[in-house]
Amino acid sequence: MAVVVRNLESDRSAAACDLSAEVVLDGLTRRLTFHRFGNHPGLCDRTDTLDPFAVALLLPAMIRGEPLVIEGGIDERLLLTIRGPIQATLALLDRSWRRVPVEAAARRPGPTPHPIGAATAMSGGIDSMHLVRHRLLDPAVPESLRVQLFVHHHIGAHGDDDHVFEEQLAHARRIADSFGLPLVGARCRLTDAYRSMRYAHCQTMRNVAATMALDHLFSHFHFASSEPFGGRVARTRFTGIATLEPQLMPLFNTDHVSWHAFGGDATRLRKTAEVLADERLRSTLLVCMRGFRRDRAALNCGRCFKCARVLLHAEAIRSLDAVADTFDMAGYRHGRNHSVMRLLRFSLGPTRNAADIDLLQFMAANGFTFPGWSRPGVAAALLLHGRRHSLDG
Ligand SMILES: [Zn+2]
Repeated sequence: MAVVVRNLESDRSAAACDLSAEVVLDGLTRRLTFHRFGNHPGLCDRTDTLDPFAVALLLPAMIRGEPLVIEGGIDERLLLTIRGPIQATLALLDRSWRRVPVEAAARRPGPTPHPIGAATAMSGGIDSMHLVRHRLLDPAVPESLRVQLFVHHHIGAHGDDDHVFEEQLAHARRIADSFGLPLVGARCRLTDAYRSMRYAHCQTMRNVAATMALDHLFSHFHFASSEPFGGRVARTRFTGIATLEPQLMPLFNTDHVSWHAFGGDATRLRKTAEVLADERLRSTLLVCMRGFRRDRAALNCGRCFKCARVLLHAEAIRSLDAVADTFDMAGYRHGRNHSVMRLLRFSLGPTRNAADIDLLQFMAANGFTFPGWSRPGVAAALLLHGRRHSLDG
């Protein structure tokens, strides 16, 4: 068997701006569609290509150990990397993902396009806001690399939950409007192709594929990495393909778009500190895992582990008031003990990661008032990781 992509179609009728192709996967033929939307005037102006489908189906082909057959042309530079270096890089994450042949025609570069600026994804989270600070608001950024467009896709981050997506999209639009920039995106049901995979192990490929369906709108794409880069490949419940992004991103370069991994040089602690310090960034911050429940009191619940990380940090620097409009403070106070307990567990347990230990040390160093019951555990965690601390001031 093979994974086959064929019969590219684009539909620019009235309200739609769809890009679709037939995909044969596990012997079944389906049509895979990128439904493009947004308020950029050039949204539908493009010569459509199969590039996004090649990226979207590469990992499913590797998992199945089947050749990827593209009946048409893809960018000649992308074809070279997709046959070799991209697969070699992905295989670092999982040795069961096999190197597969990729059949496609090479599309030669067209006339040199006019540079049209940079784009990035906007979720409203810490990584996005940290990128905005350095690639949009920083006056030292060269104009060619300054963000001029936001993207926001529906590619299955919340399963197929349309309600959460629509709320997040509306929030991303508010942020884009506040910076006076357009926002575009693509809706694409990729869950069939990635059914057996954790989102954290394939999200980069899904994101890049959806973004390539819009890549006539920018010449640089800044991809905000959630993981600090330490040359370490990790494969856990919440960590995975993001640890490969510094190596992966430049491999997606085509004749007219350069891809850049951003933010891997900063820890989560530093990114959070920078975002909290800037009113323009913290006032629309959206980190919540339980976002958009109908009974919510604020944009962020204040209790889930993502909210807790930000609020424990804010409390440590005595800045809770600065985020009181965007986080449910009653929820935070109510769940504060549990949040400290969870942070301790994440710092000590088998799923521990450096961001939680960094935060624990930062709280101790800033004289955070830990609940009495937690103090021996905090001291033990810091000792275990060889961190200096000052629990007793
Ligand atoms: Zn939350």
